[in-house]
Amino acid sequence: MKVTIVYDNCPARPGLKTGWGFSCLIEVKGEAPLLFDTGADGATLLHNMARLHIDPQGIGIIVLSHAHGDHTGGLTGILEKNGHAEIYVPASVMARLPGRRVTALGKPAPIMKDVFSTGELRGGEQSLVVRTDRGVLVITGCSHPGVGTILEVASGYGELYGIIGGLHGFSDFERLRCLSLICPCHCTQYKSRLSELFPEQYLACGAGLELEL
Ligand SMILES: [Zn+2]
Ligand SMILES: [Zn+2]
Repeated sequence: MKVTIVYDNCPARPGLKTGWGFSCLIEVKGEAPLLFDTGADGATLLHNMARLHIDPQGIGIIVLSHAHGDHTGGLTGILEKNGHAEIYVPASVMARLPGRRVTALGKPAPIMKDVFSTGELRGGEQSLVVRTDRGVLVITGCSHPGVGTILEVASGYGELYGIIGGLHGFSDFERLRCLSLICPCHCTQYKSRLSELFPEQYLACGAGLELEL
């Protein structure tokens, strides 16, 4: 499977726009790509997709982690280009999108082959759990429910391999020692501390980062 960071505050390659927010594309063999969050702004999202050779019409599923604008602001932009994608939102988010199949998730649920949602956790946010050959990869929006809580739910799907996404103010650093990959994005406050503590596992996040697992 492959994860591509489409939208982030930081750049990982030239030619991409940056902005406060988060979005990534998840590709699993044999499935249409899944877009997790949409960043703050549709124009930036679509610009970066074009640069990364991602066809907006090819996306089969859009998952929104939570209702904050830096994760949902690009939704209108992508929906203008894609008329068919199914949409998954946390249970407390009321999303009325005429003509669209919208599923509100309160409990953990499968979304596609090897990809699961934690369901809405405290703080109104869901994260993704992806089964890879190396173990379970956790993908978060902002981690408002708390990284520990998210990892606990994810560990029910197998041995944890890594985490990618916004970790917000998370500071219980030892909780990450069991992971082989730590890729803090977007709103993570303690990026430099994490890179010092876990130099082997740390991977710098940024728009355009591609990761194959
Ligand atoms: Zn955010
Ligand atoms: Zn947020």
